[in-house]
Amino acid sequence: MELLNGNEVSKIIKLSIKEEVAKRKAAGQKTPHLAAILVGADGASMTYVAAKEKDCKEVGFDSTVLRFEASMSEEELLAEVEKINQNKDIDGLIVQLPLPKHINEKRVTEAISFKKDVDGFHPMNVGMMFKGLKTFLPATPYGIIKLLEHYGIETSGKNCVVIGRSDIVGKPMSALMLQKNCTVTICHSKTQNLSDFTLRADIIIAALGIPLFLKAEMVKEGAVVIDVGITRVEDASNKNGYKLKGDVDFDSVASKCSYITPVPGGVGPMTRVGLLLNTLDAVSHESHLF
Ligand code: NAP
Repeated sequence: MELLNGNEVSKIIKLSIKEEVAKRKAAGQKTPHLAAILVGADGASMTYVAAKEKDCKEVGFDSTVLRFEASMSEEELLAEVEKINQNKDIDGLIVQLPLPKHINEKRVTEAISFKKDVDGFHPMNVGMMFKGLKTFLPATPYGIIKLLEHYGIETSGKNCVVIGRSDIVGKPMSALMLQKNCTVTICHSKTQNLSDFTLRADIIIAALGIPLFLKAEMVKEGAVVIDVGITRVEDASNKNGYKLKGDVDFDSVASKCSYITPVPGGVGPMTRVGLLLNTLDAVSHESHLF
């Protein structure tokens, strides 16, 4: 079994992004600029935005974080999004989710100009992704594809099972694996006899958000297992009071796999890299959109 080390691979990709940014700067080209909007003070969201800010700094991007009170209205937020849409200095915009309950997330994410939608959530970008056109890919599936490519994992003709059909992970992941010539099966909460599918899979991508869901008896010998899940589970022995758990029962599954991602240190850092790659594409107009 070999670990798919997202920490290591993300470092390598970040270094190449940093070099690209340095080249752009030396050539007098624009520095990539990512803006993030954070509404309210949700602990996990604040951590994610701080991590994105740190990543930008590391590779030489400019970054701006706009923080607003949870009480802001939907109209006020839409006005802020529009200001950034019009701001020529900002190449990519993300609105950190979840938003407070009184704000319609769909309306807000669709208000972001699809040319700055580096999260890849806008229907225009989703459609282009499904057609296989170059566009901004949702960061988590994008990061996973980069990880598989880095380790030279064969996808063509393989059976791939994606567990979960969310708009940000499961659906785009299945589209990208189809483009990589896998035979893709998508499982979800209504799937019956899920093990019948996973036991035939050469590649399993677990993205359901139920800690330790995938057990050894559900996995065939030699499978590649990608664990997207991150759930905070109470743990008094940890200084934060919680531990991060994946959707895969790593201790029992790992010995059956050819490759497996750890949690943390697998998909998480690759997701962060996916966003940086999209932002670089946004500044260099490397997309079908421009
Ligand atoms: P989500 O929107 O809650 O979607 C979960 C999906 O899992 C749904 O499609 C649901 O099916 C399916 N599901 C739920 N219970 C199931 C069961 N018993 N059997 C089979 N399928 C089941 O979650 P998400 O946003 O995709 O995220 C999934 C997990 O990945 C979470 O732990 C999240 O924190 C993590 N995540 C990690 C990263 C990272 O960077 N590592 C990024 C994004 C998300 P239905 O559609 O039928 O309800």
